Amino acid sequence: YSEEEKTEDYLFKIVLIGDSAVGKSNLLARFARDEFYPNSKSTIGVEFQTQKMDINGKEIKAQIWDTAGQERFRAVTSAYYRGAVGALLVYDISRRQTFDSIGRWLNELHTHSDMNVVTILVGNKSDLKEAREVTTAEGKALAEAQGLFFMETSALDSLNVTAAFQTVVKEIYNILS
Ligand code: GDP
Ligand code: MG
Repeated sequence: YSEEEKTEDYLFKIVLIGDSAVGKSNLLARFARDEFYPNSKSTIGVEFQTQKMDINGKEIKAQIWDTAGQERFRAVTSAYYRGAVGALLVYDISRRQTFDSIGRWLNELHTHSDMNVVTILVGNKSDLKEAREVTTAEGKALAEAQGLFFMETSALDSLNVTAAFQTVVKEIYNILS
């Protein structure tokens, strides 16, 4: 039972997908570093960030991939999806257009990765109450129809951010153990 064995138990690749500016990079920044960028550009995007998590006393490393902005050019490559076991499919509750894109992102995810990739539909920017264009019920209904987990989050207010990542990681762990 070497130290190495204890820490290298699980490494899960998780991808962040969804339209530009829905808050993918800020969800990762909030989750991994407890930071928020009010005027973020694609420059804050990193290739991936590894975050240690504790699930049922097991140390799990979540390797979370961010797009670095290439989704603006519809050019997220197959390498991005390769080996992913989890996905956060993100839209912005204040921009319906980003919710309408979810079907396209799901197709892309299923084209490039395993059908069984554990996916959560994430309605981000729940703090923008006055500007809401997509109801919680609509998000829930789409998630149920597509067999996805669902949560509304705010990277700004830190609402449900850890919970969203944990939901995916726990489910992957449950499937594999
Ligand atoms: P990405 O293109 O999907 O990675 O989106 P970013 O993380 O770069 O965020 C795009 C813009 O939305 C930035 O100006 C962020 O500050 C803002 N943003 C991200 N998350 C939230 C949130 O939860 N609430 C609010 N109000 N703004 C957010
Ligand atoms: Mg980004």
